[in-house]
This record gives sequence, structure tokens and C-alpha cells, in this order.
Amino acid sequence: MIVQRKGARLLSRSIYRLFSTKAKETESSTQSNHAISNKQLLFTTDPVSPGSVFFLPHGTRILNKLIQFMKNQQVKYGFQEVVTPLIFKTKLWQKSGHWDNYKDDMFKVVGNDLSKEEHTDNIEEHEYGLKPMNCPSHCMIFAKFDRSYQELPVRYSDFSSLHRNEASGALSGLTRVRRFHQDDGHIFCSLDQINQEIKNTLTLIKDTYSIFGINEIEFYLSTRPEEKYIGDIETWNKAEDQLKNVLNSTVGAGNWKIREGDGAFYGPKIDVLLTDAFGKKHQVGTIQLDFQLPNRFDLKYVGEDGNRDHQPILVHRAVYGSLERFFAILLDHYQGKWPFWINPRQAIIIPINETHVPVAESLQKRLSGEMLNGEDAIAPLTSFNFYVDIDKRGETIGARTKEAIQKGYSYIILIGDKDIANGTFAVRTRDDRKVKNMTSNEIYDTFVQLEKSYK
Ligand SMILES: [Zn+2]
Repeated sequence: MIVQRKGARLLSRSIYRLFSTKAKETESSTQSNHAISNKQLLFTTDPVSPGSVFFLPHGTRILNKLIQFMKNQQVKYGFQEVVTPLIFKTKLWQKSGHWDNYKDDMFKVVGNDLSKEEHTDNIEEHEYGLKPMNCPSHCMIFAKFDRSYQELPVRYSDFSSLHRNEASGALSGLTRVRRFHQDDGHIFCSLDQINQEIKNTLTLIKDTYSIFGINEIEFYLSTRPEEKYIGDIETWNKAEDQLKNVLNSTVGAGNWKIREGDGAFYGPKIDVLLTDAFGKKHQVGTIQLDFQLPNRFDLKYVGEDGNRDHQPILVHRAVYGSLERFFAILLDHYQGKWPFWINPRQAIIIPINETHVPVAESLQKRLSGEMLNGEDAIAPLTSFNFYVDIDKRGETIGARTKEAIQKGYSYIILIGDKDIANGTFAVRTRDDRKVKNMTSNEIYDTFVQLEKSYK
């Protein structure tokens, strides 16, 4: 269980709590999260679904950017995305061990009309569990086919919703939730491949956090417990040696700490903690080796020696961890001043009067990647498309500009007679009053460069 307690180190004892959805929030961070979300209309909650967040259109834009960013990185690192079921029969959870160890934190799902089930005489046959994690699905996919050493490592990624039945009284905002999403990934590999896989994951974790300007990161290696562990000591030692070497070469000797004996019974792990703008530490990324699930699911591959009895090691890994929590961390971190590439309000066009609206609409079309005001029947599948609004209300320029800044638009674009005559637009940023005259192509190219460089 990964729970942060005052003065206590993070504990992790069980796979069934691999990624905790709980985090202690400071009063100030919760308040500032809600204040920013209310102002920018990012997300909401309702007692009709405690602990499940409604992402509003602008919050969804941010969430989708986070997901798209990670999907592209996963392609780079050889992951294949899969889409897996949300409900599974109880027998799957018995096989994975969740039913014995994690049942109280799971939701049961039963259809109202049992005549639709095949075996109505057996209650267990029509009882389903809503998944709290993706690992069993990915083990099932691995087990569906004959596997050879030549295919390894097999890497699956999954952004499914996950549900965990946390006590309803403790639920709030984005960090104490029942439903959440992870940038989840599972790697099936041989013992010799761990080195490279962990190196890749640590590199991705460091690179990702640095894109968001988060550089205060701590790495912890938790090793084999003294008693009650599965697998042979030789495998443990070899795996731990590889993790130590990779940590030394990737984050540097002296830049990580060891938690002797604090690994789970099924394998050693690396936890990644970051410090937010309020000085509070968050458990985000995790890399967890697992010698147990491959055994429970009887995962096998044919080795180079022709032997069919080789068992892969499973690596659970996540970079953001819970997307909801990472969203909350970013809310605190940026205080609503989103960088352009992730800003759900990238630019606003302010036509000085009604006669300038058609030109504003044509600029909006261009910047939206021909999505808005387009005459083409079908929107393009891929293009750079930016979130650009038009404020054509009759308010003064000053009032509309002020409101645009308050709402967090990165760029404010003014259009008047002079601009139209010159074929340019008066462009300013959220933080700088200085106006620059730019053509529509120059604006578009600037936006493309900002997005490409994650600025
Ligand atoms: Zn997992």
C-alpha cells in the first residue's frame, strides 16, 4: 500500500495497492486546485458518482494532451497499446489473487436479469468485478498466444479507467478518487533484458517530468524482504544488481536511495517521488518487478534452447501514475498559467468591431488546422490544430483583453482596420503587453514551433 504519512516513509507491501489513488493534500493546494478549476472550467464532481471526476471540455483538452504526449513516447519505446475489458468474472480475480487480497477495495458488478447469463445455477458465474488494475488483462493477452524469446520484450500499454472502492467520506477533488486512469504499461521480458527496460523507463520518467519543468525528483529502490518472499535468491540478487546499475548509470550514483527489505514479496521496485510547488512530495512513477503474476497466469515462452518452459518477468510501470493526480500536481505547479502546448485556451481573437469578424473567423479556421469554419466536408485526420476562440462581444478592447488574461489564454490577437489593410494581426502574450504585428502564417508557424518544443 502506498500511502504518504507524516514523518513516515512510503510503504509498499502489496501489488494490490501498486499505485495508490490516495494522497494527503494540503489545505492550500486543494483550495487552489478548486479555485483554478472553477475559473477555467476544468472539472467538476457530483454526489451522484462519488470519487469519479467529470472532466469538462477544457479539462478534457488538458487530459487528452497528457495522454497523447505519453502515447507518442510509448510508441518510441516500443509499447503497443491495447484496449481491455472493464468487468471480469470473479474467477479471473481469484486467479490473479485480487479476490483474496483486494476484494474489499473492488466493486462487484451483477446484471439485473440473470436469465441472460449462461450458468444461472452458479452465483460465482454471473458475478463480475470492476477492474482496479490492468495487469491481469495484459497477462491474459500474453498467455493467449505461443510466445518465443524472439518476441521479447512484449510491452503493452493501457489507459483504461480503473475503479477502487475507497471510503466515500474521504473522497475529494482529483487526488482522492474512486475512478482514475493510469499511463499503465506492462513489460514481459527475460531477466537479462531488465537492464535495458528499466533504463528506458527511468529515462522516460526523467524526460517527461522535465518537459513539465519538474526537476526535483527522488528515486527509491526497495529490495527483497528478509522473510516471506517468492522466487529464488539468485533471481532477486541478479534483478536487484541490475536495478542498482541502471540507477547509477541513469540518475547517477548518490542520486537515489535504498530501502533495504522494503520490496514487495513478489519483486523489487523503484518508486519515483516529485516535490510540488507547495513542497509536498507525491508518489508518481513506479517501476515494479513481479515474479508472481507470471506464475499465477502460467506465462511461458520458448527459449533460445528450444525449451518451452521459460517464464518471463513482468515489469509494471507508470510514468504519470494516476492521470488525475498528475493533473492536480500540474494545476498546483502552473497555478493555471498553462504552457502554450498544453493550454486548453491557446489563443483568443478579438475583432475590434463587427466588420472585422469575417477576418477573425478566417484566422480561426487557419489556426484550428482547418477544423473550424471549414468548408471541406471532412476534417483532416492529422494536422496541427490549436484551440482558438473569438470574442466578438460588444465590450471594449480593454475589457475583453483583461478577461482573456484572467481566463488564461496564452495569446491575444487583435484585429482592426489597420491590421486588415496591412495583412497582419496585433499579437500579444498573456504576460507581456508588448504587441507584435504578425501575418497569419507567422502566427501559425510560431504556434507549431511552441507545440513541437513543448513550450
Ligand atoms: Zn500492473
